[in-house]
Amino acid sequence: MTDPHPHMPATPPLLSIIVPVYNERAVLPLFLERIREVLAGLPHTAELVFVDDGSDDGSDAFVIQALRCQANIRLVRLSRNFGKEAALTAGIEHARGDAVIILDADLQDPPELIPDMVQRWEAGADVVLMQRRSRAGESWFKRASAYAFYRLLNRTCRTTIPVDTGDFRLMSRRAVDALLRLGERNRYMKGLFAWIGMPTVVLTYDRDARPAGQTKWDVLGLVGLALEGLTSFSVAPLRWATVIGLLAASVGAIFGLWIVIKATILGDATAGYPSLVAIITFLGGIQLMGLGILGEYVGKTYIETKQRPVYLTRDVIEQHRADAGRAPIQTEDSSYVEAG
Ligand code: UDP
Ligand code: MG
Repeated sequence: MTDPHPHMPATPPLLSIIVPVYNERAVLPLFLERIREVLAGLPHTAELVFVDDGSDDGSDAFVIQALRCQANIRLVRLSRNFGKEAALTAGIEHARGDAVIILDADLQDPPELIPDMVQRWEAGADVVLMQRRSRAGESWFKRASAYAFYRLLNRTCRTTIPVDTGDFRLMSRRAVDALLRLGERNRYMKGLFAWIGMPTVVLTYDRDARPAGQTKWDVLGLVGLALEGLTSFSVAPLRWATVIGLLAASVGAIFGLWIVIKATILGDATAGYPSLVAIITFLGGIQLMGLGILGEYVGKTYIETKQRPVYLTRDVIEQHRADAGRAPIQTEDSSYVEAG
């Protein structure tokens, strides 16, 4: 049999588990307990890379406490809250593993599925994608909007973004290195993940409800993410604006013609004040929408040209192997961390 991973070293492969954390103090103890149990049953060595995304509820202190007595934990603290997409980028950049698994801290992605994912990777997959079969504990609105959004997104861009998948996935080193080459600042991760391609295996799972804590998404946040996704991965909305404008203009022209005919040939010159107001409001709305869409793209271009880093780290904390059990070392790292 040929080795599916010629790039894999002879030493036992290392798994990196990336965990973005933003105010998850309530679930972290349970999370650690469950992930420890899973990793204990795996023959591989693993590192846990926690990315603290500017929590203010003591989540980072809890992880620091945990890494004092567990050598395979690393904590990357960001300088403030940058959002999950940036936290994931930070985690991926700090992971050293031959395979990287992204796992939410809130236990909505069951860690017990990791052995299955690793098995698929060892069988040759570069990406093991976890697709939700069900979403426990999520509102009707969230489910319906997610459904509509993915269908719309996939109609508008050439990269097919798989339906009902989140960030929960395994990526080989090859896939991670590919991902790190995408240096854009607008990091719509699901889109970026899809863009790199690579041999992919899809596993389905039941998404659990959060055991504790609260979701960080509200309706506005989700609408923002949806707009971000649409405008990051396609310019089709610009075309929609053109098409809608053309349609509205044609309807207006036909209507105007009809009025002229009505007045000159049929001699019926009714004053059309209310219809005028309706038409003006309608066209004004369409124009504003077109401008808004255009603005999204101009804004994106503006942000990209600034070349700002995707995130800044406050520090990276890990236990020094030589003095395990003693105080963890803290790498002061106030320098800019360039986005991959
Ligand atoms: N998260 C983060 N930064 C943020 C928001 C969320 O790192 O600004 C983390 C959060 O701690 C959790 C994961 O991203 O581990 C998913 O967040 P959440 O459960 O709120 O999202 P949902 O599962 O509802 O999509
Ligand atoms: Mg969640």
